[in-house]
Amino acid sequence: MKNLKLTANKVLMHTYNTIPIVLKSGNGCYVKDKKGKEYLDFIAGIAVNSLGHNHTLYTNAIEKQLKEIVHFSNLFYNEEQIKLADKLISNSNFDKAFFCNSGTESVEAALKLAKLHGKQKKNGAWKIIAMEQSFHGRTTGSLSLTGQKKYQDSFLPLLPGVSFAEFNNIKDLEKQIDSETCGIIIEPIQGEGGINPAAEDYLKEVRKICTDNNIALIFDEVQSGIGRTGYLFAHEYYNVYPDIICLAKGLGGGLPIGAILSTEKFNLFQPGDHAATFGGNPLVCAGANAVLKELLDNNLLTQVKKSGIYLNKKLNELKANHEIIKDVRGIGLMLGMELSVKVENIISICRENGLLLVSAGQNVIRFVPPLIVTEDEIDKALNILELSLKLSD
Ligand SMILES: *Cc1c(COP(=O)(O)O)cnc(C)c1O
Repeated sequence: MKNLKLTANKVLMHTYNTIPIVLKSGNGCYVKDKKGKEYLDFIAGIAVNSLGHNHTLYTNAIEKQLKEIVHFSNLFYNEEQIKLADKLISNSNFDKAFFCNSGTESVEAALKLAKLHGKQKKNGAWKIIAMEQSFHGRTTGSLSLTGQKKYQDSFLPLLPGVSFAEFNNIKDLEKQIDSETCGIIIEPIQGEGGINPAAEDYLKEVRKICTDNNIALIFDEVQSGIGRTGYLFAHEYYNVYPDIICLAKGLGGGLPIGAILSTEKFNLFQPGDHAATFGGNPLVCAGANAVLKELLDNNLLTQVKKSGIYLNKKLNELKANHEIIKDVRGIGLMLGMELSVKVENIISICRENGLLLVSAGQNVIRFVPPLIVTEDEIDKALNILELSLKLSD
């Protein structure tokens, strides 16, 4: 470890404050480090490992594809990609899919699509409204839509024509809309911003405003989509349907894939307008197809609804007994616990006691376990958390 750390410091750019643990293997909701110490994994690669680790159906699907063909260009028809698009489209209100490799890329694609719509269908409208406290990614387009100073400040000026509205405040949003607005982007549940769910009435009003004003409504469900809420998409929980949706994280179950889905009205890209070399290659799509099979055909969504309710209930019981806990919020297995103190110390005590957790901002502990998590594992995690809360006093 010491050598590895030295080498890492020498050869890697310092973009992360790395935790001094070397993870080596995983099984279900557990991961093991190089020394053989086992951890209950409630980070899941930040809402990525939907089926946990070493899931038989998932690894078999990838292994099969690996031995057939890993990659070829989108110049050719790709069976796994078409199958994946068909599954996503037939289980949603959308009509078309485009595949890329990450969350930020899916936001870039949505941004271009909204701009194309403005240019072609709304007299050249080009401005975008995003939310305060949002997070949409690190490339310069999606960073321009990320309403947090700490991410943007070093890289200003970013894209022109972007303004930020207070989340869940319809009046503030209305004030910023003008004839040049082509798109509004919202996370139905803000992830990095602290696990802040949108209010249902708010999203319904935003939907109406976008329809009335010919504005593209984009939902960034990179974190909240693909079963996280107990629904395939977070907007199904709200019963509010966007024009364009951004997906990534949990979609590939660990392999890098992103996607946007759109309705027919926004099916505007023509050959040459957009592309991605790796986007939706056979290998990553085989993984994503396995994830969707578990969620939709093998009833994992139903299980997530139940385990989400259970985790929420348990967190609220903990809240009743600990003054330090100010709030428990979120939907399904995307939950946050806000503390009256910074959470970093408690998270590191949890880790020493065998539970991996990640924060969402300074004061919120985020719970995004693999979607296959059981009630026993939730009990075990919360026992460690409670112990760690006591130890941190
Ligand atoms: C993580 C995240 C992104 C960025 O995804 P990357 O794959 O890291 O580029 C964008 N939007 C939301 C809501 C996210 O949670």
